Amino acid sequence: MTTRTTIQYKVSAHDTSGPAVSADWRCTCCGKLLGRRHGSAILVQFARGHRYRISRPASAVCRSCDTLNET
Ligand SMILES: [Zn+2]
Repeated sequence: MTTRTTIQYKVSAHDTSGPAVSADWRCTCCGKLLGRRHGSAILVQFARGHRYRISRPASAVCRSCDTLNET
C-alpha cells in the first residue's frame, strides 16, 4: 500500500500575507487584522482555531486599541 492521503491545512490567523482571493478586514485605527471579507460574509478567525462566519453588516471591537470597527 503506497497510497497516502495528505491533509493540507492552511493557517492564516495572524498577520501573515495570505492568498489574495479575499480582502482583509482591518482595524481602522491600528490596522490589526480583524477578519476577512468573503463577498457578503466575514470570516473571523482566532489564534487557536475558533472560526466564525458572519454576514455583513458586522461590527467588532479591536482587541488592541478598543476601536469599534464596522463593515
Ligand atoms: Zn485597533
